[in-house]
Formats: sequence, C-alpha cells, structure tokens
Amino acid sequence: MAEELGAALSVRLSARRSLAEGGEGWLANSIGNETQNPARPWFRKLNPTYRKSIAFFPKMNQVDYLRISSIDRCNFRCQYCMPSGEEIEYMSQQQWLSDEELLLLLKEVFIPVGFTRFRLTGGEPLLRPKMVELVGAIASFPETQDLSMTTNGFLLAKLAQPLYDAGLRRINISLDSLDPETFDRIIGNRGRSRWQQVWDGIQAAHRVGFDPLKLNVVVIPGVNDREILDLAALTIDKQWHVRFIEFMPIGNSQLFGDKGWVSSAELREQIGEAFGLTTSSVRGNGPADVFQIPGAKGTLGFISQMSECFCDRCNRMRLSADGWLRPCLLNETGQIDLKTLLRTGVDPAELRAKVRQLLALKPEINFKQRDSGTAGTYARTMSQIGG
Ligand code: SAM
Ligand code: SF4
Repeated sequence: MAEELGAALSVRLSARRSLAEGGEGWLANSIGNETQNPARPWFRKLNPTYRKSIAFFPKMNQVDYLRISSIDRCNFRCQYCMPSGEEIEYMSQQQWLSDEELLLLLKEVFIPVGFTRFRLTGGEPLLRPKMVELVGAIASFPETQDLSMTTNGFLLAKLAQPLYDAGLRRINISLDSLDPETFDRIIGNRGRSRWQQVWDGIQAAHRVGFDPLKLNVVVIPGVNDREILDLAALTIDKQWHVRFIEFMPIGNSQLFGDKGWVSSAELREQIGEAFGLTTSSVRGNGPADVFQIPGAKGTLGFISQMSECFCDRCNRMRLSADGWLRPCLLNETGQIDLKTLLRTGVDPAELRAKVRQLLALKPEINFKQRDSGTAGTYARTMSQIGG
C-alpha cells in the first residue's frame, strides 16, 4: 500500500513539476526574497533539470486567509476523513483554544499581520458550543473582509438563520451522495438515515440566503463516482456551486490505497460529455478551477490537489482547534504552537513576529514539498487539521 501511495503522490509531484515548467518569472519575481533564493542548500540538492524548471515558478499569492478548525470532534465518521476501525482520540475541551484565546489571536496576531478572511471548519464546527456567538464576534471585527464555514450540515436546519443573522454569509456543506444509503455508508452511519436532515440543512441555508452556497463532494471510486452527473446537475436550476475534491491520502490511507482517486480531468470529461462544460466567468480566490454547464445557474469547481499543482495560488494557513498554526496542508514542517505560547504568557507582539517569520518561510515550506514529496503518512486527519 505504501508503494501505491508513493505512486499516486509521485503522479502529483510530476504534475507539479510540469506546471512549474510552464510557470514564469518566479526567480525574477523573488529578487530580494531570501526564502525563495535558489542559493539555499535545499535548492542545490535538486536535480539540475528540475532545478532549472522551478527557478521560474510564479510568484506566490498573498497569504491572508486563515482556516480555523474550531473543534476536532465530529458527529460523522466519513470514510475518507477518519481511519477505518480505529478509535479516535479527541482532544478534551480544555485543549481547544477558548473563544477568548481564539478572538485574541485573531485580533492581536492574525489581523495585524494581514489576515482578513476566515473560515470556520473542523471537525464539525456546529458541534462547538456557542458557535453562533463566535461567528458574531469574528464578523464584527472591522478588518474581517470575509467569513465562511464548512459544515456537514447535520445541525444546519435550525442554525442556518441564527448563523446568517450573526454575520455568516458564505457556507460550504459536504454532500457526497444523493442516495441516502450511499450517503450513510460514506459517513459511517449505522442508525436511522441522516441524509434527509443534511438535505433539510442545505434547503434551510438556501432559504436563508447564503451566497455562495457550495456543496463539497469527495469522489471515491466505486462508492459515489456513479453519481457525478446527478450531483453536477444540482447546479442547473439552483445557484448552488458544487465542488468536486480529489480524494487525498489524509485521514484514511487504507481506503485510499484500496480505492484510489478520480482526477478532476476525468470528472470534467464525463460531465462535459453529458451536459457540455464551459469555463466560468466566476473565479474564486481559492484553488478550485471553476466551470459551468451551459445555461446553469450555479457552477462546478474542481479542486485538484492530487493531480495538479496550485501551491503558487496558495493563500492560506490553518489553525487547529488546539492552536497549532500550520503553513501547508501537505507538509507538517514549520508549525507553531500558538496556544502554549499564549498560555505561558508570551506577548502578542512576539507571536506576531513568529507568525510573520512563518509567512516569510511559507513559500519555501510549500516548495520543500515539491522537492521531497510526502511519505504518505500524516500525523493528523483532515478533521484535526481543519479541512
Ligand atoms: N465537518 C465539516 C465537513 O465535513 O464539511 C468540515 C470539516 S471537513 C474535514 C472539511 C472538508 O474536508 C470536507 O469537505 C471534506 O470532504 C474534506 N475532506 C476530509 N478528508 C478528506 C480527504 N481525505 N480528501 C479530500 N477531502 C477531504
Ligand atoms: Fe466529520 Fe467533516 Fe470529517 Fe466527515 S469530513 S468525518 S463530517 S470532519
């Protein structure tokens, strides 16, 4: 299985390399930026052909977007997100950043260093006590330009209106299947079906007026790939945005090893053949490539972290529920334990300096991944990292 993982990841790495070959001006753009300096030892270790190609990688995006995992717990156990058959050790509530600590970090550390866009995720964010109040507090910072949430939707029917009233406007809801049986299998549900309650949550979010309303789909071969066209068709009559996410070997590498993943290119081909597909004029700030079925009200996004390289477009960092700041999803280096620093009395000015330092290192950390690849093992699942 390790070999299969390695092969899949090397496909991604070679795709990254070929994109790098097509890139332009990375070196020219990085004059004066020590972290992207090809004289650094890690750069000299690369093979000369690859070194030549990545020397022209495009300039990185500004990093102003923080994904906040508000809680590591979840009321679902999605096959692709959690390891099969293993007990999950959740953090105790004392280990989470408290509301006060999180708001202090945002106000005195993240906003001053340039973060203005925030997403609350998890685990399942709607399980966190006082989530509506937390949303209200983050929305009320004058510097907050964008606040969004990713949820499994199970508790959304009742919470959609209060969340909207508190200032949340954008929401992503995970919906991997339109078939209740398949859905329950994916989320690891054994009791009464949970599909309808999630669907009701989506309808409530639509009625309340969330815009954009995005539906996240992780495609797993042999599990929900036969539903691609039905899921894509949801965008025809409603202004919903379906985002197909390539399955990553984070969380359940065993399932990944058994099933593999479907590339965005394959999905686009299927959808294009059935409905036609045009590039959408709507362009998000994130990693999705956005398309549209001709005449549809909504859009189709493809997030292709396995088959394509979008590290040059990366504009984000992640904060875990227990306060670790992580600069790169696919790379576990460089993380800062902000909670411990805060609890041991370190001054916010010093925390700002550390975060600035990490921001400066981020291009190299992203880049290092292209050099080394990943061993395919991650200490944390997506629910812990904050997907
Ligand atoms: N519980 C919420 C939900 O499911 O929307 C928020 C947290 S979840 C970790 C955030 C996103 O990560 C979801 O859209 C989920 O599908 C995605 N995700 C989790 N594990 C993944 C994996 N192994 N590969 C790709 N996407 C994954
Ligand atoms: Fe929970 Fe979301 Fe992970 Fe599913 S994807 S187990 S809903 S955190």
